[in-house]
Amino acid sequence: MSTQLYRPTPRYDLLRTPFIGRLLRWRWGRLVGQLLFLCVALLMLYDGFTGPRLAPTNLATVLTWVHYRGFVMFALLLAGNLFCMNCPFTLPRTLARRISGRSQRRWPRWLRNKWTAVTILVIYFWLYEWLDLWASPWLTAWIIVAYFLASFILEVFFAESPFCKYVCPLGTFNFVSSTVSPLHITVRDQNTCRTCVGKECVNGNGDVLGCGTELFAPQMKSNLDCVLCLDCARACPYENVALAWRNPLAEVRRPDAWPRRWDVNVLVWVFAFISLSNAFGMVPPVYQLETWLAAVLHTRSEGIVLAVIFGVLNVLLPVGLSLGAAWVSRRLAGRREPLRVTLSRYTPALLPLTFAIWFAHYAGFHFLTSALAIVPVLQNFLLDVGIHVFGQPNWALGPVLPANWMDPLELVVLLVGVAASLDVLNGRSRAAADKFAAQLPWLLLLLLLAVAAMVVMYLPMEMRGTVFG
Ligand code: SF4
Ligand code: SF4
Repeated sequence: MSTQLYRPTPRYDLLRTPFIGRLLRWRWGRLVGQLLFLCVALLMLYDGFTGPRLAPTNLATVLTWVHYRGFVMFALLLAGNLFCMNCPFTLPRTLARRISGRSQRRWPRWLRNKWTAVTILVIYFWLYEWLDLWASPWLTAWIIVAYFLASFILEVFFAESPFCKYVCPLGTFNFVSSTVSPLHITVRDQNTCRTCVGKECVNGNGDVLGCGTELFAPQMKSNLDCVLCLDCARACPYENVALAWRNPLAEVRRPDAWPRRWDVNVLVWVFAFISLSNAFGMVPPVYQLETWLAAVLHTRSEGIVLAVIFGVLNVLLPVGLSLGAAWVSRRLAGRREPLRVTLSRYTPALLPLTFAIWFAHYAGFHFLTSALAIVPVLQNFLLDVGIHVFGQPNWALGPVLPANWMDPLELVVLLVGVAASLDVLNGRSRAAADKFAAQLPWLLLLLLLAVAAMVVMYLPMEMRGTVFG
């Protein structure tokens, strides 16, 4: 292995730090993380299928709907896509590849886009609300089983990790959110890549597979589709791959970071509106709206009523408003270009605010008001399996911070998100030499989203996950 070509271009490379760097580069590093998560998943499955039926007392529901979502938001904010890095659902991949041998096919060309991911994301959040997934340990456990099965089956039949890249709603959530994360894959020296013959980072080197989602490290400008598995770093014979720190807004500011595609733009807009509708599903006005709509539609099916509400909120509004804003923006800019290009220019400005809404909701509200609930839930689990040394559960445990801190905290998070989004919006407009007026429709939309988020967050919200709640 040669290190002659080493030129430390990225200033802060986590792979070069003394202990963490070695651990990350270690061939079995990811496997250790995945096995740890697999143990947690097995515990959740066991408790989900056999444990208490009351959701806030069951490991499957509390760990999934309180802790997973909270930790994921903190990880994305402070580092990057750490869940996908340690994802246990892809563990049976090796077995799947053995079973399939060399008979794997390419994922169909017409599915190689984000339309499937958008559709699954919309359906997933609809099912979450309709079936009250957060309230059912049994259904939560079945979802975990479904993830393992779907990942395994797709790995048997197709090359290029289509489950992660095109299907998994958790992956989609993490991919989009990690575009404002501070860690990203890059290379230390582009010249080394130019003369590199094997391109092992993407092709693999015999011992280590190359990039499962077929990203090419020297050309990466975005965290989209990067599961942070670090196989590229392990496979590169020149140790030329870096896991570098960056300004979290660097990617969304960069005009050429994302492909100018309809599916990518729609994904971001839908993701933004789901951040609102998901919180809206937990506040009192949604129940009044459901009652009214059920009467109007002459139906008693909550599934139909919620399908209408979420169809409007998660599909019609984001698509209609973003296209409308793009059309007005193009006219105000006096440009003659495809609408897709105008939309692509300004869509990334939405990301900081969107991330802030998710963060305020999942990390701020649910996690910080319920994180300690894991203590009595674990005590209860141990009692159920006959271990009595940790005493009786104290079900009043839950909040990490006083409840009256939550509103101001969420407000601060949302204001930071708005400020960052406005900064990106202005930067992208100036980079394109657009007139200031071209920003106005986007500005209006951002402010509308921010105000809607603040109103929803300030309404009394269901505390899903604690007995106390
Ligand atoms: S393997 Fe990839 S990252 Fe490493 S030198 Fe070759 S092209 Fe660059
Ligand atoms: S670029 Fe590919 S191989 Fe490298 S960390 Fe991301 S997903 Fe893994």
